[in-house]
Amino acid sequence: MNIHEYQAKALFEKFGIAVPKGASAKTAADFTSALALLPEGPTMVKSQIHAGGRGKGTFTNGFKGGVKFCKTKDEAKEVAGKMIGNTLVTIQTGPAGRKVQTIYFTVASDIKKEYYLAILLDRATSHPVIVASTEGGVEIEKVAHDTPEKLFKVFIDPAFGLADFQVRELVTKLGLNAAEQKNAAKLLRNLYRMYWETDASMIEINPLITTPTDDVLALDAKVSFDDNALYRHPEIVELRDLNEEDPKEIEASKFSLSYIALDGNIACLVNGAGLAMSTMDIIKHFGGNPANFLDVGGGASKDQVIAAFKIILTDPQVKGIFVNIFGGIMDCNIIATGIVEAVKEVGLKLPLVVRLEGNNVKAGKETLAHSGLTIVSGDTMADAAQKIVKLVA
Ligand code: ADP
Ligand code: MG
Repeated sequence: MNIHEYQAKALFEKFGIAVPKGASAKTAADFTSALALLPEGPTMVKSQIHAGGRGKGTFTNGFKGGVKFCKTKDEAKEVAGKMIGNTLVTIQTGPAGRKVQTIYFTVASDIKKEYYLAILLDRATSHPVIVASTEGGVEIEKVAHDTPEKLFKVFIDPAFGLADFQVRELVTKLGLNAAEQKNAAKLLRNLYRMYWETDASMIEINPLITTPTDDVLALDAKVSFDDNALYRHPEIVELRDLNEEDPKEIEASKFSLSYIALDGNIACLVNGAGLAMSTMDIIKHFGGNPANFLDVGGGASKDQVIAAFKIILTDPQVKGIFVNIFGGIMDCNIIATGIVEAVKEVGLKLPLVVRLEGNNVKAGKETLAHSGLTIVSGDTMADAAQKIVKLVA
């Protein structure tokens, strides 16, 4: 789960990670009261969307920059009016862009130098890793590619946490002066504590800055959390912004379905991620194109199948459905009954091919055959795949 910059910075403050003072607003009517919380003077206006590259982004109405420097609060109010409700396109949003529904006003800091700092899980070593660089404010992928020697990594043993020598190593490699080192060391320890205590999967600060008074501040914040640990953090779940997610995927997650839209015309409904992958492969193999990845998980209840059909049918590209279920713990006949009821309930008109295998498969196939519906049965995965490819052709 991802959160917005303004939410991430509120968490930063809670964990003692220094940020410039800021205030958010969801409507133009709230701009004045939000700005009243900030001192008079140079102010940044920042579009809140779940995508980076906002500074260099462009709005579909032609307005340039999703992050803008303003000399006064009056100017900030005017600029915010040009952003709110409009669609911002950045290198990370794709051409469709994202609608800006929250503005974050923040004091413009005096920047001495910009750095990069992140903490995430390194899958190769199964250790948290802190990544830091003297090259901040630019795309880190570019630094990693062009000047990898300017990227420092420190792997942390989770049993011991972030050690003092590692903190010293980082602040030294970043070339900070003594006062900056002291502030950066505090920030690093708090960053690790936040990463650990919130079950974050990544915290990225780009840029982290030093100021002429040797303060070390986080100017940007990108934070994501491990979905599997969210049950431990109800206060973080509250930060979820459904405006930033695909409505089909939100609907799917309500029924514990893993759904990812693709651009073909054969919808798939499968139990188990591995079987879902091989189902998409076999459709391709026989010359078809899958419209989605859809895993109903271990079981496949009637309610799940109904929800899955409804989600599938919102995609106008879909010309046929391939249900491929392996009954292991689940009884094939229960699944077949669920499919029949779901077809009736949604009034399915598209061709449907079902391949069932496993526990109580004979009874399941009979249920499908005697349903009075035009459900095509496939004996094997290959047989069923060929049948659906033919039916949508
Ligand atoms: P994004 O990464 O989405 O473009 P950032 O928050 O990093 O958004 O903002 C882009 C740039 O704007 C930063 O690299 C920094 O130079 C500048 N900036 C952002 N916030 C501030 C601030 N509070 N004070 C001064 N400059 C800022
Ligand atoms: Mg940034």
